[in-house]
Amino acid sequence: MAEVVAKHTLHSGIFHPLLRQWQSPNVEITVNNLMYPIFILDEEDAKDPIASMPGVYRYGVNQLHKMLQPLVSKGLQSILLFGVSKHLKKDHVGSNADSAQNPIVQAVPLIRQWFPDLLIACDVCLCPYTVHGHCGIINEDGTINNKASITRISEIALAYAKAGAQIVAPSDMMDGRIGVIKQRLAAAGLSNKVAVLSYAVKFASGFYGPFRDASQSTPQFGDRKCYQLPPGSNGLAARAAARDVSEGADMLMVKPGLAYLDVVRHTKDSHPEYPMFVYQVSGEYAMLYHGAQNGAINLKNVLNEVLLSMRRAGADCIITYFTPLILDMLQPKSKY
Ligand SMILES: [Zn+2]
Repeated sequence: MAEVVAKHTLHSGIFHPLLRQWQSPNVEITVNNLMYPIFILDEEDAKDPIASMPGVYRYGVNQLHKMLQPLVSKGLQSILLFGVSKHLKKDHVGSNADSAQNPIVQAVPLIRQWFPDLLIACDVCLCPYTVHGHCGIINEDGTINNKASITRISEIALAYAKAGAQIVAPSDMMDGRIGVIKQRLAAAGLSNKVAVLSYAVKFASGFYGPFRDASQSTPQFGDRKCYQLPPGSNGLAARAAARDVSEGADMLMVKPGLAYLDVVRHTKDSHPEYPMFVYQVSGEYAMLYHGAQNGAINLKNVLNEVLLSMRRAGADCIITYFTPLILDMLQPKSKY
């Protein structure tokens, strides 16, 4: 009996901070586990606040160095860039997604030059640059033209790769785009210089609301339910991840994060050889931000808990708008 009591005593293993750390050896948060999403606007000097995401901005190219410098000095390792078109003309094929005027095409070489050790990922999609705001090319009847879409998506991926992106991350959810992108990168001799991070398991989610405000990419008709996954579809989620693995994805992502941690765990368990990314999306950011603003939660405590839950579920890297705050939280504190 005494032996059983001793073995079932848990408090003895957690009464000191280091003991607690030893109880969670693989679920710590470090700078290597973070990727910072950044919106880049086609207005060079702009720093536009995003109303639905307090504390997040759209930056013009000329604002990027000033914004990134302190983050890099605090250990920022990687960024995920989204282009936002305020002035560029939109059309049916997203011509300005990879034109010389595109803010991503302009920003990437500069960031590479300023911060040579920073790993740059670029989101690849059509929706910020199409008149209809959909992620692919649309047939006359409003359906997706998948073949034309993935050809166009792969052109854009190649343009960002040529601009210096070390990771291209297609978020469009068209069928077969990973394979076409990999082929196009290989044909250009970039196989060993550019990784493909697949938004493999991207659900049609209500948590994206603030992002669409940020990237001004709300569909002008219909919705994205014909190409993003239904929230309950764990079977499709598994098939999507397996498909993208077979097409050559280097890394996998589940998006959103918090409401889909079971899917993160399943995807990681099914593909343990692949780095697993989780996107803590705009609505998750807004929920935590407003919850804290209204006094319901302590932001740093709850954020830390959410990040740990994602790591525990199998995430190797978390894409989060809270990255600047987390970098501050990770700075060593002097105890004495
Ligand atoms: Zn899109």
